[in-house]
Amino acid sequence: MNIKIAQCCGMCSGVRRALKITEEALAECNGKTLYVYHEIVHNTMVINELKNRNVVFVHSIDDIPDGSLTVFSAHGVSRSIEEQAAAKKLRVFDATCLLVRKNHNAAEEAHSRNKRIVFIGKKSHPECIGTVGRVPAGYAYVVENENDIKSLPDCGGEIISIAQTTLAESDVGKIKCLLSAKYPQIKHLDGICFATSTRQNAIRELAKECGLILVAGSPASSNSCRLVQIARECGCPAELVDNEDDLKEIDFSGISTVGISAGASTPQKQIDWLLAAVRLK
Ligand code: SF4
Repeated sequence: MNIKIAQCCGMCSGVRRALKITEEALAECNGKTLYVYHEIVHNTMVINELKNRNVVFVHSIDDIPDGSLTVFSAHGVSRSIEEQAAAKKLRVFDATCLLVRKNHNAAEEAHSRNKRIVFIGKKSHPECIGTVGRVPAGYAYVVENENDIKSLPDCGGEIISIAQTTLAESDVGKIKCLLSAKYPQIKHLDGICFATSTRQNAIRELAKECGLILVAGSPASSNSCRLVQIARECGCPAELVDNEDDLKEIDFSGISTVGISAGASTPQKQIDWLLAAVRLK
């Protein structure tokens, strides 16, 4: 069986930076617990390794003892979370990706000019909650799919759209067209990050040459799951592989070329493990 690796895959600069900031925070802990608000990145291997090093992941600031060292994940946080952290005198290491921060700045700037915001993204994703939470309630609407556009209110003033960094251009493009039909005055900002689009373009190329593609990554990783979908949309069977159990489920019979890709939150050691495991098939 031939194995081909996507031209671009694996950890992006934002995730590397978030992990570097976490290491800096750990170095200051002197054996005390380090708290991380949300998963630092959506990858099981990375999370489990950090848990073994006295890192506790929380989904509420209330779960962090006052004055503790705390990391905000690469997905970014709302203003309210920053205020809660300040009230508890947490010592914060902010690992928000600079590209997510760019979207935060755009939302805040739009609000300061009394513009409405449509955020195109997954409602339950921390990045969406964080970005929408940069402005007061009522100024930003979230659109996850075409149906959501139907329930948006009429809006006569200035309005901008911002897209979640890890979405696919093709999905966002359709929603932008429908938004332009509803709000002819809308201005669309370019929110999708280059790391996402280069990995998506690479898997489209890989799909042309393979009978099966395996994407190393965790189910919680939005961009890893989207890579699987894109390969399938290109007509190539594809599966997400987070661990040994996932790999056992995969039928390699009749496959002459397997492609390997990985999400932007996947560490190189997980890619290396998958490569070695596939070579044994
Ligand atoms: S995928 Fe893009 S936005 Fe997300 S952490 Fe990586 S560089 Fe930042």
